[in-house]
Amino acid sequence: MADCLFCRIVAGEIPAAIVKRSDAALAFRDIDAKAPVHLLVIPTKHVAAVRDAKGADGERLLGRLLAFAAEIAAEQGLDRDGYRIVTNTGRNAGQSVDHLHLHLLGGRKLTWPPG
Ligand code: 5GP
Ligand code: ZN
Repeated sequence: MADCLFCRIVAGEIPAAIVKRSDAALAFRDIDAKAPVHLLVIPTKHVAAVRDAKGADGERLLGRLLAFAAEIAAEQGLDRDGYRIVTNTGRNAGQSVDHLHLHLLGGRKLTWPPG
């Protein structure tokens, strides 16, 4: 999508600190990090949010994104102390970019519940 911020990052039109890519996903550092490790894991193809990842393709995509995030967490050295993967969907959750993204947070003790 031409006017989507994260599609523009995928296309290389907007710079980002990219950590890892696969054919279906991209991981880069959040510009406003809330933890020592705060990455965003996104599909390279535009999907607005988890609620839009439907059917067999959607299920496959969600599985691959989660597995990709877990792989990166291990590579970032987060397996031992743990980490959080969270995705905001819609207004009540505070989703601010309408391109599906998993937040991968780690490197400090995280409180629960989130606000
Ligand atoms: P949301 O609030 O939708 O769950 O998460 C969107 C995230 O995208 C926020 O944590 C925000 O800091 C991050 N973000 C917004 N604009 C940019 C940008 O231009 N580059 C990067 N790397 N992250 C961004
Ligand atoms: Zn997009």
